[in-house]
Amino acid sequence: MKEEVIKKLEILAGAAKYDVSCSSSGSNRSNTNKGIGNAAYCGICHSFTEDGRCVSLLKVMMTNYCMYDCAYCANRKSNDIERTALSVDELTELTISFYRRNYIEGLFLSSGVVKSPDHTMSLMTRVAKNLRTLHNYNGYIHLKSIPGASPELIRQAGLYADRLSVNIEIPTEANLKLLAPEKDYTSIYTPMNSIHQGILENKEDTKKIRSIPKFVPAGQSTQLIIGATPDTDNHILSLASNLYQHQQLKRVYYSGYIPINTNDSRLPAIITPPLVRENRLYQSDWLIRFYSFKVDEIVNEKHPNLDLDIDPKLSYALRNPWMFPIDINKAPYELILRVPGIGVNSARLIIASRQFGKINSYQLQKMGVVMKRARYFITCNELSSPTVNEIKPENLKLLLMKQLPKAKKVKYPGQLKLFDVA
Ligand code: SF4
Repeated sequence: MKEEVIKKLEILAGAAKYDVSCSSSGSNRSNTNKGIGNAAYCGICHSFTEDGRCVSLLKVMMTNYCMYDCAYCANRKSNDIERTALSVDELTELTISFYRRNYIEGLFLSSGVVKSPDHTMSLMTRVAKNLRTLHNYNGYIHLKSIPGASPELIRQAGLYADRLSVNIEIPTEANLKLLAPEKDYTSIYTPMNSIHQGILENKEDTKKIRSIPKFVPAGQSTQLIIGATPDTDNHILSLASNLYQHQQLKRVYYSGYIPINTNDSRLPAIITPPLVRENRLYQSDWLIRFYSFKVDEIVNEKHPNLDLDIDPKLSYALRNPWMFPIDINKAPYELILRVPGIGVNSARLIIASRQFGKINSYQLQKMGVVMKRARYFITCNELSSPTVNEIKPENLKLLLMKQLPKAKKVKYPGQLKLFDVA
């Protein structure tokens, strides 16, 4: 590989590190036409760095030149950084050569905005198209759509990419305008709507003609930056829940604001990213998607922000002690799911096992229930723990917090260098 291209790659892989929205695949495509590689539901994008990022994709920007000046971004035009650009051919070659060597299972491509959103989007689309049509590449492709790109270009991109994402970045439009004056919600939601519409139409068309090419088979995602603005967790989770319901997004990624442009007075004076808050938001997102929680059960006007000391499910249980204890041998699945320490798998096992007799605490433990938490919220055959109501929620919170492993002092490690990964 040419040294010049490697040098560009080092700069542009480093420039792409702040985008977290690339952690899952969801595509399934077998090798066809004597091509190379497969995209699979699993086995792709499933390696993560310690701080949760996926390492099996080539995650790179086409260019870190940008005509915009978003306050939170390292690549904004007013920053004095080393700039470069990879051509369509260079990127295509690079991806193919990495893929052939088994370094990567896919490509995550983003870009600064050059000349215009459409110009940039068309370059990115050409990379995906070349990979698929010239090289028979069957690996995973995630393109980060450029806000403001035309629906037609988004449609074309969706024919070659497995996943498209349009990053909202800032959870309210007023704050977005403050931090990214060149962007607005129309430029973000228009491509998002086009992708959603394209996916729906493609589903309908596939029912009639099975061989029709898939459009964005792994769906779309977005990213929200957390902590760069005073937006509450209530606002953030309501927005995410809306996106899941109305745009059928596959994932909303929460990215703790990384203090880069520390001399910009529009940004908060923090020195480390809010990683605990980011983690609590992911836990809440999980509760909404897999545990049937409504946003206002987790956060609401009265409790607009998540408790950083304990996870959101425990926080919910302590705020609603009247619901407990729940009888494991009688309660419906939905209620069992609400018990801290009981996950989806153990709740299913509990329901399935009940038909064979009464369940005791030993069996619960065997099913994966975290008894040191759950015991205060349940009754079962023989358990004689005091309940949350007897201990009182505020005391139980302190008791459970004492049992938590001491938080390690995490020094923000930054993104792994591309070649450290291999
Ligand atoms: S559009 Fe904004 S966030 Fe994207 S690269 Fe340019 S300055 Fe950064």
